[in-house]
Amino acid sequence: MSVTVFSQLDRSLHEHLDALVRLASTGDDETAAELARTELPRVVAVVEALLDEHTPDEHGRCPTCRTRWWSRRRPAPCRAYLGAQLCLTVVGEDSPVPRKRLRSVG
Ligand SMILES: [Zn+2]
Repeated sequence: MSVTVFSQLDRSLHEHLDALVRLASTGDDETAAELARTELPRVVAVVEALLDEHTPDEHGRCPTCRTRWWSRRRPAPCRAYLGAQLCLTVVGEDSPVPRKRLRSVG
């Protein structure tokens, strides 16, 4: 199996994210605070940039995903947007930080 440049990039991205999670959960307080100050804003910037591309328009459709011909029949908003929403607003009970639960739609 050949390793493409893309898969290499993808792997290093995932390794970076894994390292962040590992350090945040097992590192000491100083490390965790440092991570929050240096890495969290970058991660948030990435999420915001992605959400920006997938923010539903006035019809609830994704401006990025709807460029494909079958998108008219796809559920809106798109899975990328919904996935990010669910991931960030619905957390498990073991979360140390209580967060608002996603309100049911409709
Ligand atoms: Zn989308």
